[in-house]
Amino acid sequence: MATSLIQRGLIAITGTTGVGKSQLAIELARAVNGEVINADALQVYKGYDIITNKVSSEEMLGVPHHLLGFVEPNREYTVQEFEQDALRKISEIHQRNRVPILVGGTNYYIQSVMFRKSLISTTSRDPCSPDVALPGVAGSREFEQQYSAKSDQDLWEELRAVDPVMAENWHANNRRKVLRSLEVLAATGRPHSEWIRESEAAREKEEVLRFPTLVFWLYADPPTLDKRLFERVDKMIERGMFGELSQLGKDLTDQTAFAGPSGDFSAGLKQAIGFREFGPYLAAKSTSTTDEDLELLRQQGIEDMKLSTRRYAKRQIAWIRNKLLPECNGTLSKSVKARPYVLDATDLNTWDSLVKAQGVDIAKQFIDDEQRLPDAATISEIAAKLLADAKEKPNSVLAWKRFHCPICSKTPEEARDGVAYEVWLNGQDEYNQHLQSRQHRKNRTYRKRLAERNSSSLANAKGSSESENDD
Ligand SMILES: [Zn+2]
Repeated sequence: MATSLIQRGLIAITGTTGVGKSQLAIELARAVNGEVINADALQVYKGYDIITNKVSSEEMLGVPHHLLGFVEPNREYTVQEFEQDALRKISEIHQRNRVPILVGGTNYYIQSVMFRKSLISTTSRDPCSPDVALPGVAGSREFEQQYSAKSDQDLWEELRAVDPVMAENWHANNRRKVLRSLEVLAATGRPHSEWIRESEAAREKEEVLRFPTLVFWLYADPPTLDKRLFERVDKMIERGMFGELSQLGKDLTDQTAFAGPSGDFSAGLKQAIGFREFGPYLAAKSTSTTDEDLELLRQQGIEDMKLSTRRYAKRQIAWIRNKLLPECNGTLSKSVKARPYVLDATDLNTWDSLVKAQGVDIAKQFIDDEQRLPDAATISEIAAKLLADAKEKPNSVLAWKRFHCPICSKTPEEARDGVAYEVWLNGQDEYNQHLQSRQHRKNRTYRKRLAERNSSSLANAKGSSESENDD
């Protein structure tokens, strides 16, 4: 059977929080001799089983689970580490003649494993990084000096005259990027936007997928899911969520390097929904707050947590629709394909037929003979609708939404060379990864220390002037 995908295929399960991904993974693993690899950024951490929604060992039904609950809560675990760990696990599972099943709601985890970073990705993903290998383009200081007398607006107008597509892509005050695009044209004789288009065209032919992949999008109709998510919050409280949240607060208190400035919830376990939302309630518990006030804070926390959970679910769906499905569709013309299937988990009464039985059938077919898989749009009405809505291929870099990072950007006063430095990220994924990067967190810590030093020197100055008055 030449087409067998044992030893090289991958099954990936994605979908919003609270839709039953972990359960489906276990059911599939039992049906196709699989092993589960966790792809949830919070579930990699040890302990905190309630706030991270981990499956219990009884629920695992003997199915091996990997990369689950193995990182110390006070340690930082990056997406790069995850990528390496997951690839090693997949290879080990393939060697055991079993099927790796990657499951989780952390989109950049799933993505880092499924898709190889493109050979030409430096040009296509970040056209402005100074190390882009364009011939004869060095990002030179001389070039900057040549234009030093011109205002940001003048420079931008100049770019717009010669490369309107690229000018459209940059803010006029993003001097460094505008200069860079002008420099690419000056050094290569071709507009920057043409280089990008060309590299994207090359990427379309490139094999970007690491494994033939069967992708399950476990879907529940949003109003129904909301109800289920809200009930889950109540259940989590019953199971002892507040104890875990208080413990987390204590565990992270001394870990300033990891925890970052207070009020910052962007790293590690601090992202667990509930930690921020119940902060005021848990803080008030250890003070002499009245019972009524405490109850108000508790109710507010519950409301906030429900809202945050719903918002998170919306972000996850947006990623699947706007990013994952187009990326999968982009592989269908290549030799290594990612095939997306939607399973309808809206009605839990039909789970066994619509989710479990259908999922198992498709997974078996995938491993047996990928070519004979059913048309994904034919398996249900909702599948047809959701798949028809997806874009055929990923957006061009030239059309990506851009994000500005005020923490890593520098004003002329802050920059060592006196030149303003703006950090822009292309696309939501790059932005999310940036927020987790060492560079960004270093800058964040630096800015916080600076703010503290400024306020304490202010206090000192005040103190000394007062003592002078005493004399
Ligand atoms: Zn930053």
